[in-house]
Amino acid sequence: MEVSFVDLSDPRQLEAHLREQTRAIWVETPSNPLLRITDLEQVGRIAREAGIDLVVDNTFLTPLLQRPIDFGATFVVHSTTKYLNGHSDVVGGAIIAATEEGREAVHFAANAQGATAVPFDSWLILRGLKTLPLRLKQHQENARAVAEFLQSHPDVEEVYYPGLASHPGHDMAASQQYGFGGMVSFRVREGFAVARLLAATRVFTLAESLGGVESLIEQPSTMSHASMRPEARKAAGITEEVVRLSVGIEHSEDLLSDLEQAFEAASTPAGWSSYSTGLEEPSLDAILAVQG
Ligand SMILES: *Cc1c(COP(=O)(O)O)cnc(C)c1O
Repeated sequence: MEVSFVDLSDPRQLEAHLREQTRAIWVETPSNPLLRITDLEQVGRIAREAGIDLVVDNTFLTPLLQRPIDFGATFVVHSTTKYLNGHSDVVGGAIIAATEEGREAVHFAANAQGATAVPFDSWLILRGLKTLPLRLKQHQENARAVAEFLQSHPDVEEVYYPGLASHPGHDMAASQQYGFGGMVSFRVREGFAVARLLAATRVFTLAESLGGVESLIEQPSTMSHASMRPEARKAAGITEEVVRLSVGIEHSEDLLSDLEQAFEAASTPAGWSSYSTGLEEPSLDAILAVQG
């Protein structure tokens, strides 16, 4: 399988990359971790005209907040590990086909490979789905409050949240989504002690996953996106200063005061001592060890 990576901020660039053997376009919008938005209608039209599949990873928004099939997606994929289950106790996925032919192909592969969910995990996901609308409502309310808090923080250079009017994809997100979701990323100023910030939060847990009821914080460059080549990470804008939050459903005041004290602890060397592992400048490995 050959893959061409294309910057979809301008989907017309796609056309130059379509080759005779191109079988599918794969899109993730909003993207992870910088929440970039891709124009689904335009990509859907390009895929339709080329007669190829459009696959959309809809994990960040769930079917409640975005419906890619309406824009011509032939397949939609979800990590059910995230919002659909919502309680961080399942690893799973779902593939939704827009056509009967697509459904049969997925069914054949699932049956032949045995890569299907076990009954208990399926039951947990179904149980999680019952509260999805309520959870998303709270995720989004909290995410907005957190994004606004970060936007006014002196140590933060940029906030990546499509719900903010300042986000370059805001208008596009507002037109093709039914909400802005619960993921918020931000970039701290150069020289800011990111590792200390990660170690100092008490309500936000340092962990890679997302979409559960509890809030998580992580550094994509060393954690979720560490497997990317450094050049690819750089090209994608995923620097060490980028921090990603999965904003949970806790009380928003708890989240804001946690971030506030963590920023303060990160800029006050003395504040570090209560978490000290004996290292001057703690490495992320040391912090991960402390947090178990
Ligand atoms: C987590 C995630 C995946 C991978 O799902 P797993 O359940 O971890 O295998 C794929 N796409 C997005 C957008 C994700 O957040």
